[in-house]
Amino acid sequence: MKDVPKPEKKKIKAGEILFNLDRGAVAKGRPWDGRIENSVSRLPDQGTGFQRKSEPKYNYGSGITIDFIKSVSDLYNKTSGCAPLLVNQISKEKGGRYGPHRSHQNGQDIDIGYIGLADFGSVLSGKITPEIMECNWKFFNLLVSQKLPDDKSVVSKIFVNPKVKRYFCKRAQNKNELEAGKEVLRHLYPWEGHTRHFHVRLRCSPNYEGCWNDRELDEGTGC
Ligand SMILES: [Zn+2]
Repeated sequence: MKDVPKPEKKKIKAGEILFNLDRGAVAKGRPWDGRIENSVSRLPDQGTGFQRKSEPKYNYGSGITIDFIKSVSDLYNKTSGCAPLLVNQISKEKGGRYGPHRSHQNGQDIDIGYIGLADFGSVLSGKITPEIMECNWKFFNLLVSQKLPDDKSVVSKIFVNPKVKRYFCKRAQNKNELEAGKEVLRHLYPWEGHTRHFHVRLRCSPNYEGCWNDRELDEGTGC
């Protein structure tokens, strides 16, 4: 009998999750002028490792976004020993502008409370412990290590307050981990505000026609 070649499977590395690239709603345009097509994807009230905190009407996203949050919070919950994610606003049902946001328009932006802080407490308050910061670092690490088929991170940027970026830069310097933490540090994008939540922006699924990615990040840690 002739050998039939086995279909090639994507190899999943330890700590990697599977998320669907072509199911559900589709992101169109850019985060600051886009929309959502076939808007069928909304984050449920809760799941393993997360709770939805915003009004349901602001929790629509692209298929990849909703699938990704559910999968990554499940893995984080099983591996981190840290508090669940509090997920705030994503997008309106069909996308577009709303509330105070300039972005959040194409279903690829997600606001999440700093992990370990109830009720979206400020990450700059005096109550923050190194343990809380470690939980957030672990989550950023998990986010950035999830890849699209082009082998680049599915995460385009994680917007954090500039003081948070400086904290993690210093942490890496002190532990001599600037090289090991380079990819995560690179994706931490300092932006004023962002004291009560960080903002995760995903890259487009390769199957979303007409979805535009944000500008690529510079090389280096940005520390
Ligand atoms: Zn945001």
